[in-house]
This record gives sequence, C-alpha cells and structure tokens, in this order.
Amino acid sequence: MNCKKAVSLIPAYLDDSLDAKDLQAFLEHIDNCADCSEELSIQFLITEGLSTLSTGDSFDLQTAMTDRVRESHREISVHNRLFMVRNIGVILVVILTVAALAAVYFVFLR
Ligand SMILES: [Zn+2]
Repeated sequence: MNCKKAVSLIPAYLDDSLDAKDLQAFLEHIDNCADCSEELSIQFLITEGLSTLSTGDSFDLQTAMTDRVRESHREISVHNRLFMVRNIGVILVVILTVAALAAVYFVFLR
C-alpha cells in the first residue's frame, strides 16, 4: 500500500469500516511509515478530540490512539487465526472425501 492510499483510508479506519484485508495492509503501512502514522494521529486527535470536547470527558488522546492501533492488530491476528482454522477445516474435508472415495473404490469396485 502506498502513502496516498493509506491516507485515503484513515477516515474509514477511524470509522471502523475497513474490511480485514484493507485493515491489515493499512496497519502494516502505518507501522512502517512515520508520515502516515503522524497523519493518522492528527485525524484521530481531530475526530476523537471533538467528540471528547462535546462529552466533556478528559482523556489521554495519545494513549487512546496507541490503544486503538493495538486493538486493531489484535483484531487482525484473531481474524487471521480464524481464517487459518477455516482453511485447515477445508483441507481436512477434502482429504476425508478423497479417503472415503478411495475406500469405496477399493472395497466395492475392485
Ligand atoms: Zn505512508
């Protein structure tokens, strides 16, 4: 993902509307790109800061931002684990199907 794309996804990220694929690519970029990370902080401060002003809560924006990115990483790793479990399931079903067909062949058709 390039910087232009990453920056264009920031509002969607803050809005929680990125799909897992975009979210992962986005986080990888943000982790490795100081400019975009900075831009994300700024937009986060603006959006979260405004909603904080309106509720009157005081909270540490920088910590909230760090927590937010950490939480996103956790979501991605859970997502990837589920995806892997699903793939293993599909492979097992294929193997069992082939084994069952082979068994049928050897028992009945030979
Ligand atoms: Zn960048």
